[in-house]
Amino acid sequence: MTVRYNGDKPAVDSLSLDIGAGERVALVGPSGAGKTTIIGLANGTVLPTSGSVEILGIESSRIDQKQYREVRRKVATVHQDFALVPSLRVAHNVAAGRLGYWSFPRALRSLVRPTNRLELLAVLDRVGIPEKLWERTDSLSGGQQQRVAIARALFQDPDLLLADEPVSSLDPARSKAILDVLVEAADADHDRTLIASIHDAPLAQSHFGRIVGLQNGRLVFDLPAAKVDADRLDSLYAIEPKEQRQGPAE
Ligand code: ADP
Repeated sequence: MTVRYNGDKPAVDSLSLDIGAGERVALVGPSGAGKTTIIGLANGTVLPTSGSVEILGIESSRIDQKQYREVRRKVATVHQDFALVPSLRVAHNVAAGRLGYWSFPRALRSLVRPTNRLELLAVLDRVGIPEKLWERTDSLSGGQQQRVAIARALFQDPDLLLADEPVSSLDPARSKAILDVLVEAADADHDRTLIASIHDAPLAQSHFGRIVGLQNGRLVFDLPAAKVDADRLDSLYAIEPKEQRQGPAE
């Protein structure tokens, strides 16, 4: 399948990728490789210009309203910018993960007063910040807000968990901790699929079984993590200045 936003150069070029239930897949490659676009294809917010995409057995270009709701319930995305409401308390932002499951009145009630305090606490405990339940979200650090975004995705209890550059702004120790949380969260359910875009390939290799290398919208390799060697990574990132290849030296 191919995606063109505008102009001639496709963001994703003749890609064919089959990801089965329960897989842990990292999309790696330099900036502009098409990683974020693939995350968008996987949650239905980006449609292919040609070809087709099936999300949990539903073809995204032919989706009806009922199927759209099903995809919204079963697919959770941790966005690069977290997509939280800063002025709300953490409890409300996490509870929003279930909005797709609830009737409108129930959703409104929950936004006033989340009713499942113990469940919310349990999910915040999994991401390591249970004490933040009633804090205002904008009083938390960037790393803590990222954990809230992951907690919201887990609270949704998705079949497919997507994470777009979940560690791009973190130092190595925090990056590892966040990926530990994501992978453990996926492991809680054997059929839950996890797809994450990760710029830092060695970090991806340490947490994901399958690595998909992309460059200029094209698939360069699709291999078990252990088979991805330094030469392959060097050529994948060769188009990018060296200082951009690793995360920030925070
Ligand atoms: P990555 O996540 O690997 O950095 P992206 O999927 O964000 O890659 O981008 C792939 C290509 O598509 C890039 O050339 C980028 O400039 C382009 N692109 C991404 N989003 C848009 C958009 N909304 N409109 C136009 N071009 C876009």
